[in-house]
Amino acid sequence: MIDNLLTIFNTFRIQDVLDIAIISVMISALLIWFKDRASRFVFWGIILLGVVYILARFFQLYLTAVVLQSFFAILLFVLVVIFQEDLRRFFERLALLGRFHKRFFAVAAFNESAEILAQTAADLARKKVGALIVLQGQDPLDRHLTGGRNLDGILSQQLLESIFDPHSSGHDGAVLIDGNRVMRFGCHLPLSANAARHGSLGLRHTAALGLSERSDAICIVVSEERGSISLAKGESIHEIANASALRIELEAFFARRAPIAKTRPLIRWLKENQREKVIAVALACILWFAFGYQRETIQRDFTVPIEYRNAPAEWVLEEPKATEVKVMLMGHAQAFQLLSPENLKVSVDLAKLQPGRQEVVLTSAMVKAPSNLAVAGISPDRIAVVTSRLISMSVPIEVLTESTPPRGLAIQKITATPAEVRILIPRKLRGKRIRILTEPIDLAQLDVQKAFAPSLRYPPDIQFTGGKMPAVRVVVKTRQESAPSAR
Ligand code: ATP
Ligand code: MG
Repeated sequence: MIDNLLTIFNTFRIQDVLDIAIISVMISALLIWFKDRASRFVFWGIILLGVVYILARFFQLYLTAVVLQSFFAILLFVLVVIFQEDLRRFFERLALLGRFHKRFFAVAAFNESAEILAQTAADLARKKVGALIVLQGQDPLDRHLTGGRNLDGILSQQLLESIFDPHSSGHDGAVLIDGNRVMRFGCHLPLSANAARHGSLGLRHTAALGLSERSDAICIVVSEERGSISLAKGESIHEIANASALRIELEAFFARRAPIAKTRPLIRWLKENQREKVIAVALACILWFAFGYQRETIQRDFTVPIEYRNAPAEWVLEEPKATEVKVMLMGHAQAFQLLSPENLKVSVDLAKLQPGRQEVVLTSAMVKAPSNLAVAGISPDRIAVVTSRLISMSVPIEVLTESTPPRGLAIQKITATPAEVRILIPRKLRGKRIRILTEPIDLAQLDVQKAFAPSLRYPPDIQFTGGKMPAVRVVVKTRQESAPSAR
């Protein structure tokens, strides 16, 4: 046991720490996210189905297993639909991560804002004037708010009271507050679909709940019927007893939004959700031991193609040449999991070879494999290559034609430019007749076209100097025939 721990400790790499850290963060984010979310029941539901599925497989309950399997196949889509709002919020926040907000305003300012808001809500409640006040958090709200008028004025009790004055035309809807500024009024908020869970709510309360479900904003609702104050935040809505209770809630909200001192966020972050974080780290370690930690080395064989590099110009490898060899690789199981075998190759450098037949010893240095895998052997460990120098020669281009010129036209002269090309041929073709032909030129087109750019037909073994086929231009010179053409 101690021995095992020691080996683990000795082979523990910085990558493993990183591995565990990333998974911990992901798990804790998931746990924290589900903790304060009504949709966590969906999560537990899926876990439950997963357990049923595993049991069904274990006891070979055929039908149940098949049905659940097809369910899991569409699960991703189901989840995207269920959590689309959360996913949008998640990506919105990711996008905002790198950006600094104008959201930092002085501590005094938000205590003052909290005071003003609490006082106003209490006064409106006493007078039974309905009000709906949205306090913006980190999430952008534009997507959720419709209608309304822009204002961007400094927050004050008088301003809020005039807005919500039932005689004013702008009292309907919600006021949006960002820090100590009143940004908009008369806004329409999205309604919650879960209002029934919170008792019988009117529209104003349902709207407050709706926004708090979709964002991290909080909403203060003053009921016109009952003269009560409610606060909607984080998917729930509850009544607030009096102005000072509301002020405490608001101060906490502002303080969360704009950290007071520089050192606080980290400490605060460490203190928050400690239980979830400990569970996440423990889970990540367990997962790492189960899946990540496989330290026994294994060996596997791969058939790997040979790549010949740096062949000097004018040299060729004679056929038959070796195209693949067997390579034995050794390493940890994870290294093989991350390996794409199609990227493996043995690379033979031809730059130092002499013309003629010779043996190349294959070394592990020639094997292009990830550094976490060692080459245990290559079979065969040497290959024979025959290289020969190409012979350079000039060959005229022969122009092929097809069909006949249109009536009344006769061919005077056909010229190809360039008239000849330089090619390289392997030794075995020496002395043979090599023809380079153009693709046939259609003489029937001569009344509309006189110049052609045909491609070339040539034997497969030859190469053009310069590496690619030259562009050839063929010009056909014609003259008018006075006598009708004899066939
Ligand atoms: P109260 O206790 O004040 O009566 P309530 O929750 O019972 O509130 P309603 O009586 O339906 O709600 O309130 C109607 C008012 O709520 C409207 O006049 C309007 O100002 C506001 N309101 C209704 N729906 C929305 C919405 N989607 N967004 C913003 N404000 C809304
Ligand atoms: Mg009502």
